[in-house]
Amino acid sequence: MTEEKIFEQDDKNYLPVFKRYKIVLERGEGAYLYDLGGKRYIDFLAGIAVNVLGHNYPPLVKAIAEQAAKVIHVSNLYYTEPQATAAAKLVKLSGLDRAFFANSGAEANEGAIKIARKFAKSISPDKTQIITAWNSFHGRTLATLTATGQLHYQEGLEPLPAGFDYVHFNDADELAEKISDKTCAVMLETIQGEGGVYPPKGDYLKRVRELCNKHDALLILDEIQSGMGRSGKFFAYEKYGIKPDIVTLAKGLAGGVPIGAFICTEEVAKAFKPGDHGTTFGGNPLACAAANVVLDTVPDEKFLAHVEEVGAYFKDKLIALQKKYPTQIKEIRGEGLILGAQLDKPKRSGVEIVNECMKRGAIINCTVGTVLRLIPPLIITREQVDEVINILDSVLGE
Ligand SMILES: *Cc1c(COP(=O)(O)O)cnc(C)c1O
Repeated sequence: MTEEKIFEQDDKNYLPVFKRYKIVLERGEGAYLYDLGGKRYIDFLAGIAVNVLGHNYPPLVKAIAEQAAKVIHVSNLYYTEPQATAAAKLVKLSGLDRAFFANSGAEANEGAIKIARKFAKSISPDKTQIITAWNSFHGRTLATLTATGQLHYQEGLEPLPAGFDYVHFNDADELAEKISDKTCAVMLETIQGEGGVYPPKGDYLKRVRELCNKHDALLILDEIQSGMGRSGKFFAYEKYGIKPDIVTLAKGLAGGVPIGAFICTEEVAKAFKPGDHGTTFGGNPLACAAANVVLDTVPDEKFLAHVEEVGAYFKDKLIALQKKYPTQIKEIRGEGLILGAQLDKPKRSGVEIVNECMKRGAIINCTVGTVLRLIPPLIITREQVDEVINILDSVLGE
Protein backbone atom coordinates (compact mmCIF):
# COMPACT_ATOMS: atom_id res chain seq x y z
CA MET A 1 0.00 0.00 0.00
CA THR A 2 1.17 3.54 -0.64
CA GLU A 3 1.52 5.99 2.21
CA GLU A 4 -1.47 7.98 0.99
CA LYS A 5 -3.61 4.84 0.84
CA ILE A 6 -2.62 3.87 4.40
CA PHE A 7 -3.46 7.35 5.75
CA GLU A 8 -6.79 7.25 3.94
CA GLN A 9 -7.79 3.75 5.10
CA ASP A 10 -6.71 4.31 8.68
CA ASP A 11 -8.35 7.73 8.94
CA LYS A 12 -11.58 6.19 7.69
CA ASN A 13 -11.59 3.06 9.86
CA TYR A 14 -9.56 3.45 13.04
CA LEU A 15 -11.28 4.97 16.05
CA PRO A 16 -9.70 8.41 16.14
CA VAL A 17 -8.51 8.67 19.74
CA PHE A 18 -4.90 9.43 18.83
CA LYS A 19 -3.65 12.55 17.09
CA ARG A 20 -1.26 10.91 14.67
CA TYR A 21 1.87 12.21 13.02
CA LYS A 22 1.74 11.75 9.27
CA ILE A 23 4.40 9.10 8.83
CA VAL A 24 4.07 5.36 8.31
CA LEU A 25 6.71 3.45 10.24
CA GLU A 26 7.75 0.22 8.65
CA ARG A 27 10.79 -1.22 10.37
CA GLY A 28 13.43 -0.55 12.97
CA GLU A 29 17.04 -1.31 13.72
CA GLY A 30 18.61 -0.52 17.10
CA ALA A 31 17.76 3.08 17.99
CA TYR A 32 16.48 3.85 14.48
CA LEU A 33 13.10 3.59 12.78
CA TYR A 34 12.44 3.77 9.05
CA ASP A 35 9.30 4.99 7.34
CA LEU A 36 7.71 3.63 4.19
CA GLY A 37 9.80 5.90 1.99
CA GLY A 38 12.98 4.67 3.69
CA LYS A 39 13.57 7.86 5.69
CA ARG A 40 15.53 7.19 8.89
CA TYR A 41 14.53 8.53 12.32
CA ILE A 42 16.45 8.29 15.53
CA ASP A 43 13.90 7.02 18.04
CA PHE A 44 13.99 8.84 21.39
CA LEU A 45 10.47 7.79 22.33
CA ALA A 46 10.93 4.01 22.08
CA GLY A 47 7.21 3.36 21.63
CA ILE A 48 6.69 5.31 24.90
CA ALA A 49 9.42 3.72 27.00
CA VAL A 50 8.70 0.26 25.58
CA ASN A 51 11.53 -0.74 23.24
CA VAL A 52 14.18 -0.85 25.98
CA LEU A 53 16.49 -3.04 23.88
CA GLY A 54 15.90 -1.03 20.72
CA HIS A 55 14.32 -2.37 17.55
CA ASN A 56 15.01 -5.71 15.94
CA TYR A 57 17.29 -6.80 18.79
CA PRO A 58 18.50 -10.23 17.59
CA PRO A 59 18.21 -12.22 20.87
CA LEU A 60 14.68 -10.87 21.39
CA VAL A 61 13.63 -11.64 17.81
CA LYS A 62 15.12 -15.13 18.14
CA ALA A 63 13.39 -15.86 21.46
CA ILE A 64 10.02 -14.72 20.09
CA ALA A 65 10.43 -16.73 16.87
CA GLU A 66 11.52 -19.87 18.72
CA GLN A 67 8.69 -19.62 21.23
CA ALA A 68 6.14 -18.94 18.48
CA ALA A 69 7.27 -22.09 16.71
CA LYS A 70 6.77 -24.10 19.93
CA VAL A 71 3.54 -22.66 21.30
CA ILE A 72 2.22 -19.08 21.40
CA HIS A 73 -0.52 -19.43 23.94
CA VAL A 74 -1.91 -21.90 26.41
CA SER A 75 -4.33 -21.19 29.22
CA ASN A 76 -3.17 -20.12 32.66
CA LEU A 77 -4.86 -23.33 33.80
CA TYR A 78 -1.55 -25.02 32.91
CA TYR A 79 2.11 -24.45 33.76
CA THR A 80 4.63 -23.18 31.21
CA GLU A 81 8.37 -22.81 31.58
CA PRO A 82 8.63 -19.23 30.22
CA GLN A 83 6.12 -18.00 32.80
CA ALA A 84 7.70 -19.90 35.70
CA THR A 85 11.09 -18.46 34.72
CA ALA A 86 9.85 -14.89 34.32
CA ALA A 87 8.02 -14.96 37.66
CA ALA A 88 11.12 -16.29 39.44
CA LYS A 89 13.26 -13.54 37.92
CA LEU A 90 10.85 -10.77 38.93
CA VAL A 91 10.58 -12.10 42.48
CA LYS A 92 14.36 -12.24 42.82
CA LEU A 93 14.93 -8.78 41.35
CA SER A 94 12.20 -7.05 43.35
CA GLY A 95 12.86 -8.64 46.74
CA LEU A 96 9.10 -9.31 46.85
CA ASP A 97 7.43 -12.72 46.83
CA ARG A 98 4.81 -13.24 44.12
CA ALA A 99 4.33 -12.05 40.55
CA PHE A 100 1.15 -11.94 38.47
CA PHE A 101 1.17 -11.27 34.73
CA ALA A 102 -1.32 -9.14 32.82
CA ASN A 103 -1.30 -7.68 29.31
CA SER A 104 -0.85 -3.96 29.90
CA GLY A 105 0.03 -1.33 32.43
CA ALA A 106 -3.57 -0.45 33.21
CA GLU A 107 -4.35 -4.09 33.88
CA ALA A 108 -1.31 -4.49 36.11
CA ASN A 109 -2.49 -1.49 38.16
CA GLU A 110 -6.08 -2.74 38.16
CA GLY A 111 -4.84 -6.02 39.66
CA ALA A 112 -2.76 -4.15 42.23
CA ILE A 113 -5.77 -2.05 43.26
CA LYS A 114 -7.95 -5.15 43.53
CA ILE A 115 -5.52 -7.10 45.70
CA ALA A 116 -4.91 -4.04 47.90
CA ARG A 117 -8.68 -3.66 48.42
CA LYS A 118 -9.06 -7.33 49.34
CA PHE A 119 -6.10 -7.17 51.68
CA ALA A 120 -7.32 -4.04 53.48
CA LYS A 121 -10.87 -5.42 53.82
CA SER A 122 -9.41 -8.30 55.79
CA ILE A 123 -8.12 -5.73 58.32
CA SER A 124 -11.27 -3.59 58.46
CA PRO A 125 -14.32 -3.28 56.18
CA ASP A 126 -14.02 0.52 55.92
CA LYS A 127 -10.31 0.54 55.10
CA THR A 128 -10.96 1.46 51.48
CA GLN A 129 -9.34 4.83 50.72
CA ILE A 130 -6.70 4.81 47.98
CA ILE A 131 -4.52 7.90 47.87
CA THR A 132 -2.78 8.77 44.60
CA ALA A 133 -0.97 11.86 43.33
CA TRP A 134 -2.13 14.80 41.29
CA ASN A 135 -0.48 14.79 37.90
CA SER A 136 -0.05 11.02 37.98
CA PHE A 137 -0.85 8.57 35.23
CA HIS A 138 -1.98 5.02 35.98
CA GLY A 139 -3.95 3.92 32.90
CA ARG A 140 -7.27 4.12 31.10
CA THR A 141 -9.55 1.54 32.67
CA LEU A 142 -12.21 3.02 34.94
CA ALA A 143 -10.33 2.31 38.16
CA THR A 144 -6.95 3.35 36.82
CA LEU A 145 -8.19 6.57 35.20
CA THR A 146 -9.77 7.37 38.54
CA ALA A 147 -6.42 6.67 40.21
CA THR A 148 -4.90 9.02 37.61
CA GLY A 149 -4.75 12.48 39.17
CA GLN A 150 -5.59 14.40 35.99
CA LEU A 151 -9.24 15.26 35.75
CA HIS A 152 -9.38 15.56 31.96
CA TYR A 153 -8.95 11.78 31.73
CA GLN A 154 -12.07 11.33 33.87
CA GLU A 155 -14.45 13.92 32.44
CA GLY A 156 -17.62 12.48 30.91
CA LEU A 157 -16.96 8.98 32.22
CA GLU A 158 -18.72 9.36 35.56
CA PRO A 159 -19.83 7.62 37.70
CA LEU A 160 -16.26 6.75 38.63
CA PRO A 161 -15.25 4.03 41.09
CA ALA A 162 -15.35 5.42 44.64
CA GLY A 163 -12.60 5.64 47.20
CA PHE A 164 -9.84 7.63 45.48
CA ASP A 165 -8.23 10.76 46.95
CA TYR A 166 -5.36 12.85 45.65
CA VAL A 167 -2.36 14.59 47.15
CA HIS A 168 0.47 16.59 45.61
CA PHE A 169 3.49 14.50 44.67
CA ASN A 170 6.56 15.40 46.74
CA ASP A 171 4.47 16.87 49.57
CA ALA A 172 4.74 14.42 52.47
CA ASP A 173 3.05 16.85 54.87
CA GLU A 174 -0.11 16.86 52.77
CA LEU A 175 -0.05 13.06 52.70
CA ALA A 176 0.37 13.01 56.49
CA GLU A 177 -2.86 15.02 56.74
CA LYS A 178 -4.88 12.87 54.33
CA ILE A 179 -3.73 9.39 55.34
CA SER A 180 -5.50 7.58 58.19
CA ASP A 181 -6.23 4.09 59.43
CA LYS A 182 -8.97 4.04 56.76
CA THR A 183 -6.33 4.24 54.04
CA CYS A 184 -6.04 1.00 52.11
CA ALA A 185 -3.11 2.06 49.93
CA VAL A 186 -0.98 4.91 48.69
CA MET A 187 -0.27 4.51 44.99
CA LEU A 188 2.45 6.54 43.30
CA GLU A 189 4.65 6.47 40.26
CA THR A 190 8.20 6.29 41.62
CA ILE A 191 9.08 8.89 38.98
CA GLN A 192 6.09 10.64 37.41
CA GLY A 193 6.34 10.11 33.66
CA GLU A 194 3.39 11.13 31.55
CA GLY A 195 2.67 14.06 33.91
CA GLY A 196 5.95 15.70 32.89
CA VAL A 197 8.91 13.73 34.35
CA TYR A 198 8.99 14.53 38.07
CA PRO A 199 11.38 12.47 40.21
CA PRO A 200 10.76 12.27 43.98
CA LYS A 201 12.66 14.88 45.98
CA GLY A 202 14.84 14.37 49.06
CA ASP A 203 13.44 11.84 51.51
CA TYR A 204 9.88 12.06 50.14
CA LEU A 205 9.48 8.36 49.38
CA LYS A 206 11.01 7.37 52.73
CA ARG A 207 8.44 9.55 54.47
CA VAL A 208 5.67 8.02 52.36
CA ARG A 209 6.86 4.55 53.35
CA GLU A 210 6.87 5.54 57.06
CA LEU A 211 3.37 7.00 56.83
CA CYS A 212 2.10 3.84 55.14
CA ASN A 213 3.69 1.71 57.88
CA LYS A 214 2.17 3.88 60.60
CA HIS A 215 -1.35 3.48 59.19
CA ASP A 216 -1.11 -0.10 57.94
CA ALA A 217 -1.61 1.14 54.40
CA LEU A 218 0.02 -0.60 51.46
CA LEU A 219 2.50 1.25 49.30
CA ILE A 220 1.90 0.54 45.61
CA LEU A 221 4.60 1.85 43.30
CA ASP A 222 3.74 2.13 39.63
CA GLU A 223 7.00 1.47 37.78
CA ILE A 224 5.34 0.81 34.45
CA GLN A 225 7.42 3.61 32.94
CA SER A 226 10.26 4.16 35.45
CA GLY A 227 11.08 0.46 35.91
CA MET A 228 12.95 -1.98 33.64
CA GLY A 229 16.23 -0.14 34.14
CA ARG A 230 15.13 3.25 32.85
CA SER A 231 16.24 5.12 35.99
CA GLY A 232 19.62 3.39 36.05
CA LYS A 233 18.37 0.77 38.54
CA PHE A 234 16.10 -2.08 37.50
CA PHE A 235 13.40 -0.70 39.83
CA ALA A 236 13.59 3.06 40.35
CA TYR A 237 12.65 2.55 44.03
CA GLU A 238 16.08 1.03 44.60
CA LYS A 239 17.45 4.56 44.15
CA TYR A 240 15.45 5.90 47.06
CA GLY A 241 16.16 3.27 49.69
CA ILE A 242 12.62 1.95 50.07
CA LYS A 243 10.60 -1.08 49.09
CA PRO A 244 6.91 -1.10 48.15
CA ASP A 245 4.37 -3.76 49.14
CA ILE A 246 3.27 -3.98 45.51
CA VAL A 247 5.08 -2.84 42.39
CA THR A 248 3.59 -2.74 38.90
CA LEU A 249 5.44 -3.11 35.60
CA ALA A 250 4.53 -3.14 31.90
CA LYS A 251 5.83 -1.04 28.96
CA GLY A 252 9.43 -2.25 28.48
CA LEU A 253 9.04 -5.52 30.37
CA ALA A 254 8.86 -7.67 27.24
CA GLY A 255 10.75 -5.28 24.95
CA GLY A 256 7.65 -4.49 22.88
CA VAL A 257 5.43 -7.55 23.26
CA PRO A 258 2.32 -6.60 25.29
CA ILE A 259 2.69 -7.54 28.96
CA GLY A 260 2.03 -6.20 32.43
CA ALA A 261 2.84 -7.49 35.89
CA PHE A 262 2.36 -6.79 39.54
CA ILE A 263 4.65 -8.19 42.19
CA CYS A 264 3.74 -8.23 45.87
CA THR A 265 4.70 -9.54 49.30
CA GLU A 266 3.55 -12.95 50.48
CA GLU A 267 1.34 -11.27 53.07
CA VAL A 268 -0.51 -9.28 50.40
CA ALA A 269 -0.62 -12.23 48.01
CA LYS A 270 -2.63 -14.22 50.56
CA ALA A 271 -5.55 -11.81 50.07
CA PHE A 272 -6.30 -13.46 46.71
CA LYS A 273 -7.70 -16.96 46.65
CA PRO A 274 -8.07 -19.08 43.51
CA GLY A 275 -10.80 -17.47 41.40
CA ASP A 276 -10.37 -13.93 42.79
CA HIS A 277 -8.45 -12.65 39.78
CA GLY A 278 -7.43 -13.87 36.36
CA THR A 279 -6.68 -13.21 32.73
CA THR A 280 -6.82 -15.22 29.52
CA PHE A 281 -3.69 -13.91 27.82
CA GLY A 282 -1.71 -12.57 30.75
CA GLY A 283 1.76 -14.08 30.99
CA ASN A 284 1.36 -16.38 28.02
CA PRO A 285 4.48 -18.21 26.81
CA LEU A 286 5.16 -15.77 23.94
CA ALA A 287 5.05 -12.66 26.15
CA CYS A 288 7.08 -14.36 28.89
CA ALA A 289 9.72 -15.65 26.46
CA ALA A 290 10.18 -12.04 25.35
CA ALA A 291 10.20 -10.80 28.96
CA ASN A 292 12.89 -13.34 29.83
CA VAL A 293 15.23 -11.74 27.29
CA VAL A 294 14.68 -8.33 28.89
CA LEU A 295 15.09 -9.85 32.36
CA ASP A 296 18.34 -11.56 31.33
CA THR A 297 19.77 -8.37 29.82
CA VAL A 298 18.64 -5.21 31.59
CA PRO A 299 19.41 -6.09 35.25
CA ASP A 300 23.04 -6.79 34.35
CA GLU A 301 25.34 -4.42 36.26
CA LYS A 302 27.13 -3.29 33.11
CA PHE A 303 23.86 -2.65 31.29
CA LEU A 304 22.52 -0.52 34.15
CA ALA A 305 25.85 1.31 34.45
CA HIS A 306 25.49 2.19 30.76
CA VAL A 307 22.00 3.63 31.36
CA GLU A 308 23.35 5.68 34.27
CA GLU A 309 26.38 6.86 32.30
CA VAL A 310 24.71 7.73 28.99
CA GLY A 311 21.77 9.23 30.93
CA ALA A 312 24.12 11.56 32.85
CA TYR A 313 25.81 12.53 29.59
CA PHE A 314 22.41 13.26 28.01
CA LYS A 315 21.26 15.28 31.00
CA ASP A 316 24.45 17.40 30.90
CA LYS A 317 23.90 18.07 27.21
CA LEU A 318 20.27 19.06 27.87
CA ILE A 319 21.38 21.39 30.67
CA ALA A 320 23.84 22.96 28.23
CA LEU A 321 20.95 23.50 25.78
CA GLN A 322 18.92 25.06 28.58
CA LYS A 323 21.79 27.47 29.27
CA LYS A 324 21.95 28.31 25.57
CA TYR A 325 18.18 28.87 25.34
CA PRO A 326 17.21 30.04 28.84
CA THR A 327 14.14 31.85 27.57
CA GLN A 328 12.80 28.64 25.99
CA ILE A 329 13.78 25.89 28.42
CA LYS A 330 13.11 26.45 32.09
CA GLU A 331 14.29 23.23 33.69
CA ILE A 332 15.74 19.79 32.97
CA ARG A 333 14.44 16.96 35.15
CA GLY A 334 14.84 13.22 35.35
CA GLU A 335 17.00 10.23 36.17
CA GLY A 336 18.86 7.84 33.90
CA LEU A 337 17.03 7.72 30.59
CA ILE A 338 13.75 9.28 31.64
CA LEU A 339 14.43 12.94 31.05
CA GLY A 340 12.22 15.98 30.60
CA ALA A 341 12.84 19.49 29.35
CA GLN A 342 10.31 21.94 30.77
CA LEU A 343 9.51 24.51 28.09
CA ASP A 344 8.98 28.12 29.04
CA LYS A 345 7.45 30.40 26.42
CA PRO A 346 9.34 28.70 23.59
CA LYS A 347 9.37 30.27 20.13
CA ARG A 348 7.57 27.17 18.91
CA SER A 349 5.05 25.14 20.94
CA GLY A 350 6.04 21.71 22.24
CA VAL A 351 4.08 19.99 19.48
CA GLU A 352 5.73 22.21 16.84
CA ILE A 353 9.16 21.34 18.24
CA VAL A 354 8.30 17.64 18.04
CA ASN A 355 7.13 18.09 14.42
CA GLU A 356 10.26 20.01 13.46
CA CYS A 357 12.46 17.33 15.05
CA MET A 358 10.58 14.69 13.09
CA LYS A 359 11.20 16.52 9.82
CA ARG A 360 14.88 16.49 10.71
CA GLY A 361 14.85 12.78 11.53
CA ALA A 362 14.35 12.59 15.31
CA ILE A 363 11.34 11.15 17.10
CA ILE A 364 10.78 12.74 20.50
CA ASN A 365 7.68 13.29 22.58
CA CYS A 366 5.97 16.24 24.18
CA THR A 367 3.84 15.47 27.22
CA VAL A 368 1.31 17.74 28.98
CA GLY A 369 1.87 20.24 26.16
CA THR A 370 4.97 21.81 27.70
CA VAL A 371 7.49 19.09 28.55
CA LEU A 372 9.74 17.47 25.97
CA ARG A 373 10.00 13.89 27.23
CA LEU A 374 13.06 11.87 26.26
CA ILE A 375 12.68 8.15 26.86
CA PRO A 376 14.94 6.44 24.30
CA PRO A 377 15.86 2.77 24.05
CA LEU A 378 18.30 2.00 26.88
CA ILE A 379 20.94 0.85 24.38
CA ILE A 380 21.56 4.31 22.90
CA THR A 381 25.12 5.61 22.59
CA ARG A 382 26.66 9.02 23.30
CA GLU A 383 26.90 9.60 19.54
CA GLN A 384 23.16 9.03 19.23
CA VAL A 385 22.54 11.44 22.10
CA ASP A 386 24.64 14.02 20.22
CA GLU A 387 22.55 13.41 17.11
CA VAL A 388 19.34 14.32 18.95
CA ILE A 389 20.93 17.22 20.82
CA ASN A 390 22.12 18.69 17.51
CA ILE A 391 18.64 18.41 16.03
CA LEU A 392 17.07 20.02 19.10
CA ASP A 393 19.69 22.74 19.00
CA SER A 394 18.89 23.53 15.37
CA VAL A 395 15.14 23.58 16.05
CA LEU A 396 15.38 25.78 19.15
CA GLY A 397 17.93 28.10 17.53
CA GLU A 398 15.85 28.88 14.50
C1 LIG B 1 1.83 3.83 30.38
C2 LIG B 1 1.55 3.84 31.82
C3 LIG B 1 0.44 3.16 32.34
C4 LIG B 1 -0.59 2.48 31.48
O1 LIG B 1 -0.06 1.46 30.73
P1 LIG B 1 -0.92 0.85 29.49
O2 LIG B 1 -0.10 -0.30 29.04
O3 LIG B 1 -1.04 1.93 28.48
O4 LIG B 1 -2.23 0.44 30.03
C5 LIG B 1 0.29 3.16 33.71
N1 LIG B 1 1.17 3.77 34.52
C6 LIG B 1 2.25 4.42 34.04
C7 LIG B 1 3.20 5.07 34.98
C8 LIG B 1 2.46 4.50 32.68
O5 LIG B 1 3.51 5.18 32.21
